[in-house]
Amino acid sequence: MSNLSVRDLYKTIARTKTHLVQSKEIATTCVCPYLFKMAYPFGVVGGERDYLVANTVHDIISLASPTTILDNWLQGKTETDYEQIAKAIDKDSEGIVERAIANAKEKARTDGKSAVLETFDYEVQDRFHGLLIGLSKRVMKKYEQPKRAVTEITITNVKQCQEGRIDAIFEFSDGRYALVDWKTNDINKSSGSGIDRWQLVANFLLANYRYTGDENNWSKCLFGSVVYYEGAYLPRFPLNDEWISKVKNDRKFAYEILCGGRPHAQKPPFCPVCDRDGESSSDCRFYREDSRQALQGNLPVDYANIRKLLLKRRYLVLDERAETHKHKFVISATIDNLGEIHGLQELEKTGVIYSGYWVDSTNANSITLVKKYVNDAKIILLEPRKVVRIIGKENEGIPLLACINEKGFVKEIDETKLVIDLDGNTIAERAKTQLSGFPIIIIPDEINLTRRVLEPMSKFHRLAAEIMLPSCSYPGNQSE
Ligand code: SF4
Repeated sequence: MSNLSVRDLYKTIARTKTHLVQSKEIATTCVCPYLFKMAYPFGVVGGERDYLVANTVHDIISLASPTTILDNWLQGKTETDYEQIAKAIDKDSEGIVERAIANAKEKARTDGKSAVLETFDYEVQDRFHGLLIGLSKRVMKKYEQPKRAVTEITITNVKQCQEGRIDAIFEFSDGRYALVDWKTNDINKSSGSGIDRWQLVANFLLANYRYTGDENNWSKCLFGSVVYYEGAYLPRFPLNDEWISKVKNDRKFAYEILCGGRPHAQKPPFCPVCDRDGESSSDCRFYREDSRQALQGNLPVDYANIRKLLLKRRYLVLDERAETHKHKFVISATIDNLGEIHGLQELEKTGVIYSGYWVDSTNANSITLVKKYVNDAKIILLEPRKVVRIIGKENEGIPLLACINEKGFVKEIDETKLVIDLDGNTIAERAKTQLSGFPIIIIPDEINLTRRVLEPMSKFHRLAAEIMLPSCSYPGNQSE
């Protein structure tokens, strides 16, 4: 493959096929395929919830996992032991917690999106402590101290059209790994039967790919768990084959929907979301009936035309979403064709990726990468505001798009230095902790705004139905 080939790859990769289904979306589809369809293509967005406490705890535990949690990992036996282990980690993490709380308050103040509760500090510390109790009581008790932890890692398996962000992976001295998903957004028990379990199974497939190159190779997988306040859910191993097939089938369903297909959707016998009159049920009832009436040709012409136009626009928006992943498909195909070393050289020559950087320093929310040598032949297409993925090129045969990484915006670039803005000071601190010491490769990335673009279309669709269709023509048509 020559230079031209990389460019040709961009042309040939069918525009609408470069979709990646996120693990969370697969989990939603596993709960109910209509729940996924509510989001894509219809654009129904669940009510806004304030995640400031949850996100802050997430940031804290992503910094504590590779440091204070590993350092204090002990196999307790009694409630007192678990409490003492959690307290020891709390103590050693005081600096991390203080900085994360200060950063979160500063961010809430500047973006003005979230109100900071008076009890914010207490809520964050209490939820962090609750997760540590859950971890020591259910995980540390059973498993020896891991040798390393990587956190908030996005893994992309292009061949399976799947991507997901994993909260934490613990690596053990025998080469095996364990997944941990932290439930920071509420203190209730995780639902072993619902979305948490399916997301965990979907993420196992990505982690298998990271450690073996094959999502079906479970030889490196030790366990996985959803850790919540003072408890944890650990599915029994070996995992139930039906669960794995369901995740793969529903991944295929979601992928086909994103590509504009109309795969058959089966309503589940019971849904933990809607049969408790959850949010999306009225929207779901509306869109299901709307599609049925359209299929039967029962809709008034003017409304039917608006509906058709909206659907067409929605699928164009989904095509744009596919564009956001196009680079990863080209990178993956080039490496598959040429092998990693030669593939990366070809991609660098064409200005698709940039290598030779190392972590130098951080300053507030930005990280500075420096080059040890300047490659004259190189094309530089990087410019300020470009979205990039910063990849720490790990060894042991870990695929490039499964290596540790962070996402950010280019701030400054010159021959020997690249400064990238990250989504907060705590993220910059984590990037420095996790990426330092690894050769850095920069690849283009994009922000996925699809849901934000689809949401007004759903609102307009419902409004059109309310105005143009006779009242109570079908369920959910009356805006509740
Ligand atoms: S209302 Fe029923 S079909 Fe619709 S999303 Fe909920 S469970 Fe699924």
